[in-house]
Amino acid sequence: MDGNEILLLGLGIQSPWELVEQRLDTDKQPHELHLQVKAERGSRYACPECGEVCPAHDFQEKTWRHLNFFQHHCYIHASVPRVKCPQHGVRLAEVPWARKGSAFTLLFEQAALALVREMPVSAAARIIEETDKRLWRVVEHYVAKAVAALDLSSVKAVGLDETASKRGQNYVTVFIDMERSDKPVLFVTPGHGKETLEAFSCCFMKAHNGAPERVLEVVCDMSAPSSRRFRDTSPMPKSPSIGSTSCRPSRGRSMRCARPRDGSSRCPSTCAGRC
Ligand SMILES: [Zn+2]
Repeated sequence: MDGNEILLLGLGIQSPWELVEQRLDTDKQPHELHLQVKAERGSRYACPECGEVCPAHDFQEKTWRHLNFFQHHCYIHASVPRVKCPQHGVRLAEVPWARKGSAFTLLFEQAALALVREMPVSAAARIIEETDKRLWRVVEHYVAKAVAALDLSSVKAVGLDETASKRGQNYVTVFIDMERSDKPVLFVTPGHGKETLEAFSCCFMKAHNGAPERVLEVVCDMSAPSSRRFRDTSPMPKSPSIGSTSCRPSRGRSMRCARPRDGSSRCPSTCAGRC
């Protein structure tokens, strides 16, 4: 196995793509490994819209940052074909190592997102030696994709909490599915109070197959006056919904249980009656 074959194996690139050139730029700090990839002559490519296999119309030069090669930055360069589809006209073909429009390979994005899950984006950007602006674009793409795929049709118990963002009066309200232990966060929005409830129940839930009238329990962490105001104005269902304060102590507020409005003594939240 020669050097090219080892690099191809590392890149995961298959026919019709082949590695035609490799160059280590030692003038840059850190050093940069540049890999030139090219499709075999006469290859045909799938239209990104309909999948029909078409001949190449022309080519565009593209560059992606890939995972580091040891301590050196690594870049893939390729002439990406634009196919001429009878139905959709000229379209840039997709490459198997990167998503459309990204400046990074899929493997690089995967590694970056693994860091972002554990630390602030700015810290992850420093580690991978990228700008946080470019990293934010990746994060925003995948977060938007995950949010678009959210299905709230089975949500029946919602917990919400408002917290101050940074310093001062910049609030953020977080909504969670009380019945889900894995990835329970459903919605995060700036602000607090009734407007955030409306944004969640009237807009976000409905846009994701959810139905406020199917929500049976709402647990929130609010002061007593806010709780009463919320209960009276909540767009969530009036019966048998709950509007009250959380069973959990928070920011020095008293622990109060969210009781059903139907008058029963059952504790509806996750405290299992310990409150
Ligand atoms: Zn097409």
